[in-house]
Amino acid sequence: MNKIDKYFHKYLPQHKKGKVVVISAPSGTGKTTVCKYLLKHIPNLKYSVSYTTREKRVGEINGRDYFFVSEETFKKMVQQNKFIEWAKVHNHYYGTPKKFVEETINHGQDILLDIDVQGGKNMKKVYPDGVYIFLLPPSLQVLKQRLLNRGKDTLKDIKVRLKNAIKELEYIKYYDYVVINDKLKETLEIIKSIIISEKYRIFRRGK
Ligand code: ADP
Ligand code: 5GP
Repeated sequence: MNKIDKYFHKYLPQHKKGKVVVISAPSGTGKTTVCKYLLKHIPNLKYSVSYTTREKRVGEINGRDYFFVSEETFKKMVQQNKFIEWAKVHNHYYGTPKKFVEETINHGQDILLDIDVQGGKNMKKVYPDGVYIFLLPPSLQVLKQRLLNRGKDTLKDIKVRLKNAIKELEYIKYYDYVVINDKLKETLEIIKSIIISEKYRIFRRGK
């Protein structure tokens, strides 16, 4: 083994596996918009399609945006341990598929998760070396306007989402980065830089 190989073997192992990248934010902040951009612009990044019991929105596709399932199916999957984490968010169930995430990172590919704050906190217990990014809206007023502009939630749903937004801020402490999604172009550049930098981090746990 030559000198470079020695260091290569010492520091490379964590780079052989893919990285878990979690993005959370109050509903309407811009997670979906940001995730779509990242998937287009970062090579080797896959998206974890969650399971949900909520109704499909206009324009959403089963298997691309979510796997839409009944509550009965979801609960069966919970019992069968099919989720790494799952949570009830805004009155619906959402879960991250275990097998797909594990297979993706074992193949050395990174995986992007758009999940809520309970999910982010639970994922960190399982994948402490992941990258945890919290997106904030510039203000609650702007958040409300974005939900209205999106035009895909009922007014009743929007009220629930705004009420939950305040509680969700309590979870920022579990994240590694916080980014205000004001100017979209800037947000996209910042988050892309965070993810790329994190790929090169050296972990010194236990050393
Ligand atoms: P989330 O997935 O967090 O619920 P979305 O990505 O669906 O949010 O974004 C909510 C709405 O806000 C969409 O209409 C989207 O086009 C818009 N949006 C996202 N980011 C910005 C931004 N930086 N400035 C203005 N509008 C934005
Ligand atoms: P929406 O209904 O707007 O698509 O998503 C509502 C919330 O559920 C968002 O905060 C989204 O990040 C979250 N979510 C989506 N999939 C999952 C998941 O698998 N687990 C958890 N915990 N939250 C999820």
